[in-house]
Formats: sequence, C-alpha cells, structure tokens
Amino acid sequence: MSNKAVFLDRDGVINVDHGYVYRKEDFEFVDGIFEVCRHFQKQGYLLIVVTNQSGIARGMYTEADFQRLTEWMLERFREEGIEIAAVYHCPHHPKFGPEETRDCDCRKPKPGMILKAIEEFDIAPCRSIMLGDKSTDEEAGIRAGLGKNIKINDSSDIIKIIFSLPPKD
Ligand SMILES: [Mg+2]
Ligand SMILES: [Zn+2]
Repeated sequence: MSNKAVFLDRDGVINVDHGYVYRKEDFEFVDGIFEVCRHFQKQGYLLIVVTNQSGIARGMYTEADFQRLTEWMLERFREEGIEIAAVYHCPHHPKFGPEETRDCDCRKPKPGMILKAIEEFDIAPCRSIMLGDKSTDEEAGIRAGLGKNIKINDSSDIIKIIFSLPPKD
C-alpha cells in the first residue's frame, strides 16, 4: 500500500516567520510543532517539508546557508524523536535569479515539490495532508490532489489542529 504524508510548510508552520530566516539564531520553533509532528508520525504519516526559499534567488542567503540550517533543524527534530523524511525547497523567484529559473514548477502555489515527493516516496495524495500558513500552500496541496489542506491563521493555531482532525484516515 502507498504511503501517506503530512506536507509541512516551513516558515510560519515549523518556525516563526521572521522573514527570510537562514541562521539558526533566528530560527524559533513554533510552540506545539513537535507535538503535532509526533502525533502524525505515530499515526504512520511521513513528514515532508516543502518550502519556498526565494531568499536564495534574491541573493539574501546561499544554497549552502539553507542546507546548513536544514541540517541543524533536522537534528533538532531528531532530538525530539521526530524523523523528517525529506525537505524540498524552491530557491527560485519569478523576478530574481537566473532568467531560465524564473518560471519554475516548484514555487508554491505550483505543486512541483509535492508532486516530486509523491513520486519519490510512493505517496497516496488522497490520504495526505498539507499544513501551511498561506493560501499558496493550500493551493499547491489542492493542485497536487491532497486529501486535506489545512491553513493555519496564526502559528498559535497549530496545536489545535491535532484535535480538529479525525483520528484515523
Ligand atoms: Mg509559510
Ligand atoms: Zn522553484
């Protein structure tokens, strides 16, 4: 049987969105995010991060900066008993960066990152969930055919979603 996954946006869902965060000093985990992830992990969901990182196209930080922060973030999750299966990021922007990368398929609301994960992890979209803080996250999830697309209005909402979801798929 295919896998099921929770697709997590990063900024505004995993960490407080301070805008173009690329240093661990500025990476503030959202209250409740570890509980939310452990909850889904226990129910057998893969946890996959899908994040727009146009700060790279904008020249605000580098790919290496992003990867360094990601490694640190994944280690923090592991310390909390949480295994993140993969992190997909879009480094592009329609107005910045090399001309040929501006019209990419991965920048949300496009579903490219989610579709890639579905393929690579043999995920059943209809059994899977998008968890984002913007309508572009929701739209990407809908376009990828995910069964449930949740948009939190405030990062303090995140803990509530545990109780708003049916216990089983
Ligand atoms: Mg966000
Ligand atoms: Zn992209």
